[in-house]
Amino acid sequence: MPYDFQPSWLNEELTTYKETVERFLDTEMVPFDEESRQRGHVGHEIWRRAGEIGILCTDIPVKYGGGGGDFRHEAILYEAMGHRGLTGMSPSVHSIVAHYLLNHGTEEQRQYYLPQLARGELVGAIAMSEPDAGSDLRGIRTKATARDNEFFLNGSKTFITNGYLAELVLVFARIETHEDSGKFSVFIIETKKHTGYSVGNRLKKIGLKAQDTSELFFDNINLSANHILGGTPGRGLSQIMADLPYERLLIADMAMGAMEGAYKLTVDYVRNRKVFGEPLINKQNSRFVLANMVTTLKVARAFVDDCINKILCGTLDTETASAAKLWLTQQQNLLVDECVQLHGGYGFMDEYLIGRMFADARVQRIYGGTDEIMKEIISRKI
Ligand SMILES: Cc1cc2nc3c(=O)[nH]c(=O)nc-3n(C[C@H](O)[C@H](O)[C@H](O)COP(=O)(O)OP(=O)(O)OC[C@H]3O[C@@H](n4cnc5c(N)ncnc54)[C@H](O)[C@@H]3O)c2cc1C
Repeated sequence: MPYDFQPSWLNEELTTYKETVERFLDTEMVPFDEESRQRGHVGHEIWRRAGEIGILCTDIPVKYGGGGGDFRHEAILYEAMGHRGLTGMSPSVHSIVAHYLLNHGTEEQRQYYLPQLARGELVGAIAMSEPDAGSDLRGIRTKATARDNEFFLNGSKTFITNGYLAELVLVFARIETHEDSGKFSVFIIETKKHTGYSVGNRLKKIGLKAQDTSELFFDNINLSANHILGGTPGRGLSQIMADLPYERLLIADMAMGAMEGAYKLTVDYVRNRKVFGEPLINKQNSRFVLANMVTTLKVARAFVDDCINKILCGTLDTETASAAKLWLTQQQNLLVDECVQLHGGYGFMDEYLIGRMFADARVQRIYGGTDEIMKEIISRKI
């Protein structure tokens, strides 16, 4: 039996769900991936379709229109996308938006937005980073000036995933009152409903070509307290902190899927590629490199599954989730690099999936908190 790195938590119900996800990806995403890469986004239709077949917001309760599942359902989608090198749609960012609303929104906000996110009618994005503030979020300049019972939002954000297609954006902003500008809130912006909201260019990236990453601009957008996540101003920072373990585990799990996909592609390649009159896999070096990958994948699977079990029990802490993000995304970069090497010159060609996986891997160590920020967090408890 060849190695497989099946999750330890996969049961019959999840296997059936996995088949649905894989069918959707193979028939409705893979064939259009190149088109999306050329265009720089996947289009709204695919989001609506994903909502229709029930693969968005799978870990959101049924009463809010979600799938009523848990993190394992989410993981199935991210890993299946990773296996196929699909990075165009970012359901993980969409899920993060849904979790902010679920965990910190008012009941009214949950009931109104969550079903629309689950149906894919609203594409979600989260806007924290700015040209001059990424790791140091306290340094953001986007501000919501309070006047009577209203807020006026001004500023800009950059690097926003799903930013071009987004219809619901959570914007992290500084609250400015007469007395104080030291507090933050997350504002809920329905992009089509506000004057003063605009989207800049889709940013040109060295990877994730099918994923829309954009700048966003806010010009005096008029908002009320109803647009504040949770309804009360000043809670933004603690809301963001509370959801970090979930976000970091998502990225670690995406790394897991991508590594498995890259390994499998490479095993196929070295079996078929002939060098010096024999298959490349016959060379001891190829087998040793692959053996190292198998070892990494087994360790990675054990770590990520342990984190998934912990998140299911509510015991995943920020340090462990940060360690998972740090280690798995670093391993992803090392492993995919070895895969490219075994592909030789073809590994550097854009038309070869492994080359794209190589380019896509790099940012995993940057977004959602850089390696260095993960180390800062982990080291706090030493
Ligand atoms: C493709 C892509 C998608 C993204 N999607 C989103 C999104 O959807 N929403 C969003 O809000 N943001 C998003 N980002 C932004 C991303 O989260 C930031 O790029 C990231 O947090 C780093 O911030 P920065 O780019 O400003 O780098 P900086 O913070 O300027 O960091 C530069 C370097 O300094 C290091 N550094 C910073 N602080 C410290 C420290 N205390 N100690 C040691 N070293 C340090 C960093 O690790 C890094 O190596 C995305 C970015 C990319 C590239």
